[in-house]
Amino acid sequence: MIRFEEAYKIVIDSAVKATIEEVDFNNSLNRILAEDIKSDMDMPPFDKSAMDGFACRQEDIKNELEIIETIPAGKVPAKEIKKNQCSKIMTGAMVPQGADCVLMVEFTEEISKNKIRYTKEKSSTNICYTGEDIKTAKIVLKKGTQIKPQHIAVLASVGAVKPKVYTRPKVGVISTGDEIIEPENKPGLSQIRNSNAYQLLAQITQAGAEAEYVGKAADNKKSTFDTISKALKNNDIVLLTGGVSMGEFDHVPEIMNQLGIKIHFEQIAVKPGKPTTFGTIDDKFIFGLPGNPVSSFIQFEILVKPLICKIMNCKHQAKEINLPMGIDYKRKKAERMAWFPVNIKNGIVVPSNYHGSAHIHALENADALTFIPIGQKIIKKGELVHVRPI
Ligand code: AMP
Ligand code: MG
Repeated sequence: MIRFEEAYKIVIDSAVKATIEEVDFNNSLNRILAEDIKSDMDMPPFDKSAMDGFACRQEDIKNELEIIETIPAGKVPAKEIKKNQCSKIMTGAMVPQGADCVLMVEFTEEISKNKIRYTKEKSSTNICYTGEDIKTAKIVLKKGTQIKPQHIAVLASVGAVKPKVYTRPKVGVISTGDEIIEPENKPGLSQIRNSNAYQLLAQITQAGAEAEYVGKAADNKKSTFDTISKALKNNDIVLLTGGVSMGEFDHVPEIMNQLGIKIHFEQIAVKPGKPTTFGTIDDKFIFGLPGNPVSSFIQFEILVKPLICKIMNCKHQAKEINLPMGIDYKRKKAERMAWFPVNIKNGIVVPSNYHGSAHIHALENADALTFIPIGQKIIKKGELVHVRPI
């Protein structure tokens, strides 16, 4: 049994590098940028009104103002503002020459046709100036960024419609177990629905990799052998759930050996997830994850996801967040590091209701995972713990 830190290092050090491809920006969610994205223009590209109102000169705001033009968004103003003149202007429209402020429509009154008056003493400029947010050629997104919805907006705004991203590993998922049936079926006596495979597929997608459900291996050696062989042909990473414990029908490690897969570890000092197995063959990676849903989930988060991230050159791996524990958290044994689900309330960490690795509902309302290190039995109230949002 090896410590988590050692297992993590083995996994991360074995990572191979992704190559680079261009994708449609609209299809780039969760991908990792392989280039710095620069702005191809100033933003805003012109002095833009931040309000609906009247564009005029600051020095004239105490006077009656004559309206000389209406400027909707998307139209270039035709007239320059001169003394005691104004143009009616809409939010997002270009500020006309000569104007240095926009009076908010709410604080103006019409005094006669085409004449208005400002009802306050002072006005902000209410102008977003050219290049105020971004100057031409400035880097707007850094290489290594994992693309989120807000980054898609930035890509769109600078016309980067074909960003270069790192290729994503293909990750194949195999579930094992004669008791496992697919979710659309009603389990008979002694059967349970396959939840792990679908949880993993979603975790893979969220991590930015390409997920494929390879299928189910029955609890016999031939089926396990055939299914892993098939999965290895089409995928860079293969994840198995179940079949790695000490039971008579847990064949995964033995078959991995038979397939010539180099097994780096078969047991880690982590709870849940002790029987987690990791092997490599050529440039491919195989994880035997435990069958219980919470174990499978947590092992993916702490070992598989960092590998995917490393392969794809993601700069922003699990963010370091440390928050105080809200209670005295105690445990009886400390031979293993323990990861468990928590809730975060007003910046305070509270363990979620969690009955063990089979308790699939423990993760339902959890905000994050945290851990207690090997050898430690108590986390004192107020002690800072590392939390990893899920
Ligand atoms: P195993 O590691 O094969 O002994 O499985 C441990 C536990 O996890 C058993 O109760 C299995 O029924 C359960 N289990 C295994 N695979 C899955 C799966 N794909 N979905 C949900 N539970 C599973
Ligand atoms: Mg099993």
